[in-house]
Amino acid sequence: MRAVTTTTILWDVDGTLLFNAASGGGELYHRAVEHATGRELHPPLPRAHGKTDGQILHEILEAFELAPELHDDAVAALDALSAERAAAGDRREIAPGIAEALDAAAARGWMNALLTGNSATRSRLKLSGAGLDPERFDWARSFFGDRARERREITLAARAALPDERLVIIGDTPRDDVAAVAAGIPFIAVATGVYTVDALRETGAVLVVPTLAEGLDAVLAAIEALPAPGAAAA
Ligand SMILES: [Mg+2]
Repeated sequence: MRAVTTTTILWDVDGTLLFNAASGGGELYHRAVEHATGRELHPPLPRAHGKTDGQILHEILEAFELAPELHDDAVAALDALSAERAAAGDRREIAPGIAEALDAAAARGWMNALLTGNSATRSRLKLSGAGLDPERFDWARSFFGDRARERREITLAARAALPDERLVIIGDTPRDDVAAVAAGIPFIAVATGVYTVDALRETGAVLVVPTLAEGLDAVLAAIEALPAPGAAAA
């Protein structure tokens, strides 16, 4: 008898489960570091998609020659600013087909979990703000990037924590692909962030779909076809 392998989908949040904030939102990181240092910093760094919170905060601290030890204070300030913003009514929108995709995965006995550059606090705020119930995700199987300077730190942590599970990452940027490859986790790309289907085809994604609404059947079939970890390559 063959042991049943658990399949876990590691969902990216920004640009994948939820549309990116229309207002940008990049200045929140800058303000978090200002809060942590207690002084104003000029000029802010340009915004970058697909970077972890940890990486963005680290780059701001470095650009202003601030002590790396301020990182924890900056994370706490970022969480607090995000909570303030959520309380003030800032809302994301759920990307098309996400609710149905989560249901379809759960119906197959697969686990829905998160792998994101956000902190757990910010992930929860963004999901509940958008009306996507955070309890749809298995938080014990989820991985966050508020301290990761590189996204691969998160994917490697996921692979190490869940060695026997069939993992797949669904994300919206080439950075998700690079991090997935580093950990040997297959990547499925969805073009609901800033990258187009054509741009995402340049990555190593096993499948690229425009949205989960249009591509759900293909995504489910691609996940079904993934080998279990440790299985010999065909
Ligand atoms: Mg993303």
